[in-house]
Amino acid sequence: MLVLLPATVFHLLLVARSGPARLLAPPPYLPGLEELWSPPALLLLFIWLGLQVALYLLPARKVAEGLELKDKSRLRYPINGFQALVLTALLVGLGLLAGLPLGALPGMLLPLAFATTVTSFIFSFLLYAKALVAPASALAPGGNSGNPLYDFFLGRELNPRLGSFDFKYFCELRPGLIGWVFINLALLMQEVELRGSPSLAMCLVNGFQLLYVGDALWYEESVLTTMDIIHDGFGFMLAFGDLAWVPFTYSLQAQFLLYHPQPLGLPMALLICLIKVIGYYIFRGANSQKNTFRKNPSDPSVAGLETIPTATGRQLLVSGWWGMVRHPNYLGDLIMALAWSLPCGVSHLLPYFYLFYFTALLVHREARDEQQCLHKYGHAWQEYCKRVPYRIIPYVY
Ligand code: NDP
Repeated sequence: MLVLLPATVFHLLLVARSGPARLLAPPPYLPGLEELWSPPALLLLFIWLGLQVALYLLPARKVAEGLELKDKSRLRYPINGFQALVLTALLVGLGLLAGLPLGALPGMLLPLAFATTVTSFIFSFLLYAKALVAPASALAPGGNSGNPLYDFFLGRELNPRLGSFDFKYFCELRPGLIGWVFINLALLMQEVELRGSPSLAMCLVNGFQLLYVGDALWYEESVLTTMDIIHDGFGFMLAFGDLAWVPFTYSLQAQFLLYHPQPLGLPMALLICLIKVIGYYIFRGANSQKNTFRKNPSDPSVAGLETIPTATGRQLLVSGWWGMVRHPNYLGDLIMALAWSLPCGVSHLLPYFYLFYFTALLVHREARDEQQCLHKYGHAWQEYCKRVPYRIIPYVY
């Protein structure tokens, strides 16, 4: 995975700009170090990371508490991710007025991805070293097997921090996710420079993915109950995933469209919008319902839902979205992933990479979550599985 994941990022970047754009063919060429290594790209990366750190440290509209840790304490997290997105947009907007050449960014993606990959490796080494001196109570349930490579990949410490600065929480939703939106925007601007106006397909991809990122940051607090925050250690998997994988592979559809313009008629565009809206409706409905229920089960919007009691004192929803399948939020996310790829037409497999990869990720994630829930809730979870037999897609899976 340590080799395969970075190799995949570079494969996709190279193939997206090649003429045939074939996902399963070898890359058109192997770039030399002179094409990958660029001090301006490294500088740009550090400016970007510095900006996001500065925005993270600004006063937040709210400071939220995480779930209880092994030592019974709770960590505090600033909820100012959406504010960081808006302020970044304002700064980039001002920069554009002052002549910032954002359209030049697509030409820098390869060295930028290289700089981010090298930085992720070094950062993960530092995290690994930091975990060597962390107390046992600060370690994650996984990632402490004693096999250095495995632990380096999975992450040893659960919540590595410097003072109150939380590295995992910062990386999870800021530099990579916000970076993805601005890479998309740069690809759109480059398209305008090349062809005079943005294509409908490019506008849809930009709009859909901006909505996704905006939503994640608006509901930032809900990340505190995800597996990434409460269960997984912070190592190469999350550091590289958040910083490099997300911005450089999730922008693949926009990259593809820049180099391979696709005609898109209005009726098809409307149909794709409808698919996106359905996906978003399920995704948001399911996530909000569970979050509201976990925060306050007697909230009027969830109080009428049927539940199964568990020995832990917590309850499991068995009607509403969570009575349809055991992971309705994954279903909505996958429908949205389809809507992101469809504007790229059906002539190439490449823009569907995200859909394939994401399906594999969510199937694997769902299996991991089932195991944890079975361990946590035992008989009550088995009862839930009996009542709600399908995992992600009703009557299919
Ligand atoms: P979920 O939000 O699906 O949370 C799973 C947890 O929900 C379980 O561990 C359990 O925890 C609780 N739960 C499960 N079933 C029920 C029920 N019936 N009633 C009440 N609580 C229940 O986990 P994820 O962190 O995997 O996903 C969060 C979101 O992030 C999803 O929408 C997912 O699609 C998205 N995502 C996106 C990624 C991307 O790259 N685009 C990557 C990964 C995720 P407990 O009982 O302890 O509360």
